[in-house]
Amino acid sequence: MEQVFAPWRIEWVERETGSEFDDCVFCELPDREPHREYYHLADSENAYVLLNNYPYNPGHALIVPREHTGEYRDLDEQSLLEKERLVQRTIDAMDEALGPDGYNVGYNLGSTAAGGSIGDHLHAHVVPRWEGDTNFMPTISDTKVIVEAVLDTYDRLHEAFRSQDGTHSGNTETAIVVDEP
Ligand SMILES: [Zn+2]
Repeated sequence: MEQVFAPWRIEWVERETGSEFDDCVFCELPDREPHREYYHLADSENAYVLLNNYPYNPGHALIVPREHTGEYRDLDEQSLLEKERLVQRTIDAMDEALGPDGYNVGYNLGSTAAGGSIGDHLHAHVVPRWEGDTNFMPTISDTKVIVEAVLDTYDRLHEAFRSQDGTHSGNTETAIVVDEP
C-alpha cells in the first residue's frame, strides 16, 4: 500500500507543555538565547533558519521570513529573495554535513487544511531524505534521544554554514550570520 508522504504535516511544536511564547513563536523565537537551545541555526536580515523541534528526519529545517504573515503573496521581494537564498544555503549545508539522497521542500499555506499548525506565520520546510528512510519520530519515541539527535545535527550544520562564503559566527551556541543573502 502506498502511503502519502507529507513531512510538512509534522509541524514545529513547543517542547514543554505550557506556552513558552506569548504570541507568535516564529516572531519571538529569534530573540531567545542561547540560539542553539532553540535550534536557531542561521540568520539573515529578513529571514532565518530553524531546525524543527519535531523532525521528520534529523535535519528537518524551517526557513522563516521575519515578516509576520501567513499570506505568501504579501511577502516583499527582499523577504522572498532572502528566504529562498537561505533554502539554497541550507541545502548546501546539508549536502556537506549530512549527505542525503534528496530533499523535500514545501509549504503549508492556509493553516489546517494543508496540514500546518502555525498558519499565520509562513515558513518553508526543507527535509533531507535518504533511500529507505523512515519517519524518525515514531521510530525513536524517547524525547531525550530526539533532542540529542537534533542538537548533534545542529552542530554539524552550524559547522557547514560557517564554512560557506559570506557568513560569520560568534560561537557554537549562536546562530550563523549570513552577510550576503
Ligand atoms: Zn509571527
